[in-house]
Formats: sequence, structure tokens, C-alpha cells
Amino acid sequence: MSNFIEERVLSVHHWTESLFSFRTTRDPSFRFRSGQFTMIGIPVNGKPLLRAYSVASAHYEEELEFFSIKVQDGPLTSRLQHLKEGDAIMVSRKPTGTLVLDNLAPGKHLYLLGTGTGLAPFLSLIKDPETYERFEKVIIVHGVRFKKDLAYSEIISEVLPNDEFVGEMIRDQLIYYPTVTREEFRNHGRITEAMTSGKLFSDVGLPAMNRDDDRFMLCGSPAMLADVRALLDAKGWIEGNHGEPGDFVIEKAFVDK
Ligand SMILES: Cc1cc2nc3c(=O)[nH]c(=O)nc-3n(C[C@H](O)[C@H](O)[C@H](O)COP(=O)(O)OP(=O)(O)OC[C@H]3O[C@@H](n4cnc5c(N)ncnc54)[C@H](O)[C@@H]3O)c2cc1C
Repeated sequence: MSNFIEERVLSVHHWTESLFSFRTTRDPSFRFRSGQFTMIGIPVNGKPLLRAYSVASAHYEEELEFFSIKVQDGPLTSRLQHLKEGDAIMVSRKPTGTLVLDNLAPGKHLYLLGTGTGLAPFLSLIKDPETYERFEKVIIVHGVRFKKDLAYSEIISEVLPNDEFVGEMIRDQLIYYPTVTREEFRNHGRITEAMTSGKLFSDVGLPAMNRDDDRFMLCGSPAMLADVRALLDAKGWIEGNHGEPGDFVIEKAFVDK
């Protein structure tokens, strides 16, 4: 059996000139855990061109969803941004990744900190009922440069709270905290600054950061991850991984070359 499944694109949505998302068919044999990523791609000159992508859809949905950057000279996304309904896409059967609930020790508040397309794994996690069984409050923080980059904003704040399956949990337990760095917005500034100043915690109406109650999942640019990791390390918080649950887990949203 091939390590790849050929899926078909069902729909494509362009959020901005540099962000888009698309949905594909899902082979029933493809299993993943909320928060994981897999390799996806297309054949180029007869060879597969693959990149890591977080699965943005829920594990129980019949379709797969991916949230993507458009890098103008990027080998994959310069092509992928032209995807159309009906196009074929390769999806690896072997999803993996550290942003899974089992890698975190029990806690009360789960902070999902994402910048840019680093939101993607959290879109899957916020639709998983298990997330709300394990944590009393789930805070999804999306850091972007401009307001227009706040993809999925209406879905998180208006569509999901009315979802038949998870709507009630989302209404009671999910807090959405978008923050913008390069223009005026109700939450302005970098995620790290909002954590250091304590503004993030007071804005969402929860106690100051504390290791007894709070757990963090981080997915974003290498710079954001380095800054938040330094902050957590300085407090003596422990990074979790497979087999050893911790206070926080980290995944790169992309690799800077
Ligand atoms: C674990 C993991 C999960 C990932 N999940 C996603 C995802 O869900 N969605 C997604 O769009 N990308 C994701 N990526 C990045 C993805 O694998 C590719 O790098 C991206 O699709 C661009 O591919 P490319 O071939 O066009 O350019 P590449 O040659 O891969 O990248 C060129 C440059 O573009 C920049 N870049 C790449 N990806 C991003 C990004 N997402 N945001 C901002 N700048 C970027 C970097 O500076 C990079 O060096 C993930 C990467 C990793 C390691």
C-alpha cells in the first residue's frame, strides 16, 4: 500500500493575497489526532513535491481542511495557490506532531497560541470535544500583522458556537483572542508582550499565568516560538512530549530557511 492517498479538492477559499484554505475528500482509512500535521503535495516533473501541513479539520469530519500561506516563489505554494475544485492532492497516511492533548499534564486552562498559519492545528483542537473534557477553559490566541489576516475569525466567533455537535462546549468554554501588531485593533501587540505584561490573562478574565492551572500549546514563527519558550523556560515550566506530558508543547508553523 502506498504511503500516500490521492485526495480531490472540494473547495478553495482565498482569505487574502497571501492566505488561503482548501477542503479535500478524506479517505476513510486516514486517521489523525487533533493538532497533528501530515505531508501533503503534488507531483512536479514526475516527482512528489511535499510539505508539512497541519490538519485544520476535526478528526470526525468527512472532509480534510488545510490552511495555507502563499509564498510567491515557494516551490509548493506558488503552485498550490492555484488549486481548483477537482484537482488531485497527495496526503501522507502518517500524520504526526507534538500538539496533542496527551502531551500535556492535566490543567484547567488551555492556551492555544498561534501566529499566522500556526492557527491551523488549533482549528482542529477547538472542534474536539475531548479538549473541553480535559480543560475548563480553552483560549485560542491568534497573532497576525493586519486585521485582514485574521482568517477564520467569523467561523470561530459566530459559526462554531452554533455547531450542532460542539456548539454548547464552545459557547461555554472557548475564548477567542485575536491580536494584531501593525494596525489599530482592540487587542494590539505581540503575543509575548501580552503574556509578559499580564494583559492577555486579564483581558480574557482569567488569573495571572500559573503552572498549577495553565497549559500552553504554541505554533507559529520561529521567532514567536523562541520568545515564548524563553519566557516559559525562565519560569521553570516543562516542555511535554510523547510519553512525558508537560506544561507546554511547541510546533513550528514553518521552517525559516
Ligand atoms: C510541522 C509543520 C507544519 C506546517 N504546517 C503548515 C500549515 O498548516 N500551513 C502552511 O501554510 N504551512 C505549514 N507549514 C509550512 C509548509 O511546510 C511549507 O513551508 C509552506 O507550505 C511553503 O511551502 P513552499 O514550498 O511554497 O515554500 P518553502 O520553501 O517551504 O518555504 C519558503 C519560505 O517561506 C516562508 N514560509 C513557509 N511557510 C510559511 C508559513 N506557513 N507562514 C509564513 N511563512 C512561511 C519561510 O520563510 C520559508 O523559508 C508547516 C511546516 C512545518 C514544519
